[in-house]
Amino acid sequence: MSSRRAAPSERPRARPKPRGERPRPGGPYDALVIGAGLSGMYQLHRLRELGLHARVLEAGDGVGGTWYWNRYPGARFDSESWTYGYSFSDEILREWEWSEHFAAQPETLRYCNFVADRLDLRRDIEFDSRVAAVTYDEGAGEWEIEIDDGRRARTRFLITAIGPLSAPTMPTIPGVDSFLGESYHTGTWPHHPVRFAGKRVAVIGTGATGVQTITEVAKTVGHLTVFQRTPNWCAPLHNSPIDAATHARIKATYPEIFAICRDSFGCFIHQADPRNALEVSAETREAFFEKLYREPGFGIWMGNFRDILIDREANATITEFMRRKIRARVRDPKIAERLIPTNHGFGTRRVPLESGYYEVFNQDNVRLVDLRETPIERITPGGVRTSDREHACDMIIYATGFDAITGAFDRIRIRGRGGLLLRDKWANGPRTYLGLQIEGFPNLFTLVGPHNAATFCNIPRCIEQNVDWVTALLRHMLDKGHARVEATPEAERAWTEHVHESGRRMLFTQVDSWMTGINSNLPGKQKRSFIVYAGGAPKYRQRCDEVAAGGYTGFTFH
Ligand SMILES: Cc1cc2nc3c(=O)[nH]c(=O)nc-3n(C[C@H](O)[C@H](O)[C@H](O)COP(=O)(O)OP(=O)(O)OC[C@H]3O[C@@H](n4cnc5c(N)ncnc54)[C@H](O)[C@@H]3O)c2cc1C
Repeated sequence: MSSRRAAPSERPRARPKPRGERPRPGGPYDALVIGAGLSGMYQLHRLRELGLHARVLEAGDGVGGTWYWNRYPGARFDSESWTYGYSFSDEILREWEWSEHFAAQPETLRYCNFVADRLDLRRDIEFDSRVAAVTYDEGAGEWEIEIDDGRRARTRFLITAIGPLSAPTMPTIPGVDSFLGESYHTGTWPHHPVRFAGKRVAVIGTGATGVQTITEVAKTVGHLTVFQRTPNWCAPLHNSPIDAATHARIKATYPEIFAICRDSFGCFIHQADPRNALEVSAETREAFFEKLYREPGFGIWMGNFRDILIDREANATITEFMRRKIRARVRDPKIAERLIPTNHGFGTRRVPLESGYYEVFNQDNVRLVDLRETPIERITPGGVRTSDREHACDMIIYATGFDAITGAFDRIRIRGRGGLLLRDKWANGPRTYLGLQIEGFPNLFTLVGPHNAATFCNIPRCIEQNVDWVTALLRHMLDKGHARVEATPEAERAWTEHVHESGRRMLFTQVDSWMTGINSNLPGKQKRSFIVYAGGAPKYRQRCDEVAAGGYTGFTFH
């Protein structure tokens, strides 16, 4: 943990004023941004530089987005901290020091508040303001914004920064409301401390969040029951503190660090090995996998042989290696088999990074319930009933994830030209131009939206690219005196086809996961769709740059 003092914004705040006393966001603004996570904060900074009258509307009562909401035990980075922070400001890079290679959530939230203070962002952010609807007024050439408490605002440009993982979902299990103990969703974790000592705790869900939560809760819990439907391939995080010499080295080499990120597929510090898994000997392969398994971070996923995420046979080699690792770490062979995924290969779903996850299942006070064998029938006042028995508990933690990437869009009624609802337009999967603009929705930009490289990225690296690109487009419009911009139908069709095409070669698009738009807890999300851009960040950036250099080809201006 950082020894930094709490930023003023982290000290207890006054409660929001009652509705009647609250100022109206009003406007009209030149630009409104929805969301004050890393995307919205940086976009606000750039809009001010353009001299625009801009404001951010944020549902929470603080900045930070993901790091504001996800306060669950064990929440921390999978990205190296020093590759995750903003790169645009030398002052911020110089002044901020990460205490660990993979910072925990409280430190990242402190970082977000530090940036907000440093750039004096808060005076232009309206907190406790959840946007319910946005409607394009063709006559005025403005967006009309409706906040869920009835307040309204108008703006010429509207920029969504609403997050890829910001719409939490609960499981569709009957009886959730009947439970009499404590219950929490990891994505809306309370601000007060939650204690596990002496309690019987149930955790439902074993994705990246579930894995972090389970490992942390297991350290102090009285008894823990883990309800697992789909096991995931987890790899060691190998976190450690950053010492003074390493701090100095990181600060001295930031340009090189960001250059490596810029050139790698997902903007991580790990670059794919140029060799194919099957062109080296079995011994070389094993030694390389072993080396990656011992190294920190996503190297085993992003820095592995170049074909493991594309070629089934290559993928089978790393999958078999990971299978052996689980068997070696879990004492009871039956439990080990339950923890081994059988419906997907390593790396074809989001890889949870762990710090002792498998060893949790060697504890006497931990029980693993395999929901493929004994499904949950209902939540009862006293616990969780599966098909074979009742599991009594004092607390239920839902680590059931998010309606990913399109979920935050679906939760806003977005009406474009002619009253077209975005939800309807995307009913059979998103259609976008560059994952940043949509035909029929003039002057609307979607940071980290579907079809954008940011959704398969060390995200702040892609956020900076998204924001800089949108800012440059706005500057172009101001210079040329344009009032309206919109993608052409042809450009949108071509980009959408390109997104599908580049996805087809990746193994992950053949697997059910949030990266393919599947969420078994949501009725409309049972069919796979191409929601992420899988061509890699460098190719994406190149395409965006070409569009800009060509005078913004694929857009019409008025
Ligand atoms: C637990 C967790 C760990 C993660 N770890 C990593 C990691 O290690 N590396 C990595 O690259 N990425 C990670 N991510 C992804 C992370 O979401 C991004 O890194 C990044 O924080 C996204 O920033 P953002 O500003 O685009 O979205 P967010 O941080 O999600 O911010 C969106 C904001 O929009 C607000 N909002 C949404 N809808 C509305 C509305 N209708 N009205 C008003 N406000 C609204 C939300 O309240 C939120 O504050 C993680 C995500 C999670 C959930």
